[in-house]
Amino acid sequence: MITIRTVDELRPLIAEHRRAGRVIGLVPTMGAFHDGHLSLMRQARDQCDVVVVWLFVNPAQFNDRGDLAVYPRDEARDAALAQEIGVDYLFAPPTEEVYPPDFSTTVAVGGLTEPLEGEHRGRSHFDGVTTVVTKMFNMVAPDVAYFGQKDAQQAVVVQRLVRDLNMPIRIEVCDTVREPDGLAMSSRNVHLSPEERRSALALHRALDAIDAGVARGLREAAALLSEARAELEAAQIEPDYLALVSADTLTPVAQVEGDVLALVAARLGETRLIDNHRLITAGAAASAMNNGRP
Ligand code: AMP
Repeated sequence: MITIRTVDELRPLIAEHRRAGRVIGLVPTMGAFHDGHLSLMRQARDQCDVVVVWLFVNPAQFNDRGDLAVYPRDEARDAALAQEIGVDYLFAPPTEEVYPPDFSTTVAVGGLTEPLEGEHRGRSHFDGVTTVVTKMFNMVAPDVAYFGQKDAQQAVVVQRLVRDLNMPIRIEVCDTVREPDGLAMSSRNVHLSPEERRSALALHRALDAIDAGVARGLREAAALLSEARAELEAAQIEPDYLALVSADTLTPVAQVEGDVLALVAARLGETRLIDNHRLITAGAAASAMNNGRP
């Protein structure tokens, strides 16, 4: 595996692979790798000839400077893990390479970025994501890019960005990887105290309560959400949001029908966590697809 810092180093290498007709896969990350990140890399390794991992803690998508300051970073460990999986290039540019001092462009996706994370983290969060994703797609020019279902809204926004701007890139959304007890893996989990770690499981239980309701044939969103809310209340968690939305438009649904996302976000002390389950129902026969659930 080769670690690369600049676009000028990366481009000729990628161009050579492209000339040879190889399929290039990109895995965008902010580092602090856990099994969620590694599952994206493994999928890329299985499906592509060349795998590029992007490692960049993107300051533009942090609405909370404190969160950025304590965001876990360990490039040496990350590089060793990526190498073990057989990643070809670790592209870890310094901030100036991505944002020169006179950087003045923003790529913004409307509508989908406004509710949920957009409402709670502010407009600048997704602008930061879509701008850096556009930049990395231009820098790497991958055929396929791998994103996690864990960040469900981000995946929907990136798919819309690619469609709207006719980017010739296929987006693969990979299942959420969980700890054995069901907590969705996140780089931020390291900040949880043992007590917060225990409470955090209520997010998973809340989503499970929705699945269980759907499996019993319940379809009314208000009733399903009230069962989920009871799980959060039992753990004294006041969520930023707990919602049932259309997986296409991210607008709230009154009934669970078709492709619906159950989404939750909450603060546990200083740490903000998000999780979701995708519910797919077809008529009366409900099947809940709980990504990566143990
Ligand atoms: P991050 O480094 O947190 O920006 O995440 C990089 C990529 O890994 C994003 O596409 C995330 O959705 C994905 N990811 C993060 N956590 C998980 C997880 N637990 N399971 C699957 N993918 C994940």
